[in-house]
Amino acid sequence: MRKGRVLPMRRFVDLHVHSSASDGQLAPAEVVRLAEGERLAAVALTDHDTVAGLWEAAAEAGQFPKLRFVPGVEVSARFSPGTLHILGLNIDPASRALRRLTEQLVSARRERNPRIIARLQALGLDVEMQDVLAEAGTGHGGPGGIVGRLHIARALMRKGYVAGVSEAFEKYIGGGAPAYFDKERLTPAEVIAAIHDAGGLAVLAHPVQLACEDRTGLERAVRDLTGAGLDGIEVYHSDHSPQQTRSYLDLALRLDLGVTGGSDFHGAAKPGVMLGRPLVPLAAINESFARALFRNHPSDRPKGG
Ligand code: AMP
Ligand code: ZN
Ligand code: FE
Ligand code: FE
Repeated sequence: MRKGRVLPMRRFVDLHVHSSASDGQLAPAEVVRLAEGERLAAVALTDHDTVAGLWEAAAEAGQFPKLRFVPGVEVSARFSPGTLHILGLNIDPASRALRRLTEQLVSARRERNPRIIARLQALGLDVEMQDVLAEAGTGHGGPGGIVGRLHIARALMRKGYVAGVSEAFEKYIGGGAPAYFDKERLTPAEVIAAIHDAGGLAVLAHPVQLACEDRTGLERAVRDLTGAGLDGIEVYHSDHSPQQTRSYLDLALRLDLGVTGGSDFHGAAKPGVMLGRPLVPLAAINESFARALFRNHPSDRPKGG
């Protein structure tokens, strides 16, 4: 690879994408091929709670010298009133800190999924863990892929209990519905520390979902996260209005946080969200942040030579 020619001409990035290793539709390699088709300068795979898809994606990205692959993860953390998701960007997938983190998250799910299913059965629905695992699929993400509510929703749909996934959330498994159980969440500081231990950058995903009442509330929340080590804000996101984007950009600049952006692409699982949209200019990412974002990890170096 010639230095300085890694990102020629390609001007846009997508730093928030899901694959079948979590609740996305496309396999990790397919996601990478789509990013190449969009002629992106960089794409990050950020599956929920798992790094299982990163090896397949990185191997595929090896075929496309103009596309920079950024290994990532997306982790929920404790927060109210809304939802706090933290992206770990350019994590070292082989890091022990990260393995510890994802094992914790997977075991929390291992406790939660059977509780949801037991409640559904108590409501008289004939659904079993096996049906849910079948929806999660084991071929794509490989072992370590996560199993969550989307897969439970699909199982309910396949069995004819609901017409669609959103009905499953409304009637059964969404917040406030009879078979809803929250999952065990780590604190923001714990998530950020694990991402840092894994050599990554911690980025506040889709700040709109924090559901802060006003700018003051949002700023207070982001300042707290910054105190815990937050490195950046996902300014550009498919859920953000142009006004929100401007206000998050302003906040990032004022708090000296890195600027990132991504689509939150899930394939058909989230219709209407396209990979590479909104357009996130590579130039929007400041230089020191970009350096950390695209830096190689020690484990990336070819072994034995
Ligand atoms: P979990 O992480 O197991 O709690 O599941 C969260 C996932 O379920 C999200 O990432 C979405 O893929 C999906 N999801 C959550 N709420 C809804 C909803 N109202 N309609 C459709 N899918 C949803
Ligand atoms: Zn998702
Ligand atoms: Fe998210
Ligand atoms: Fe996401």
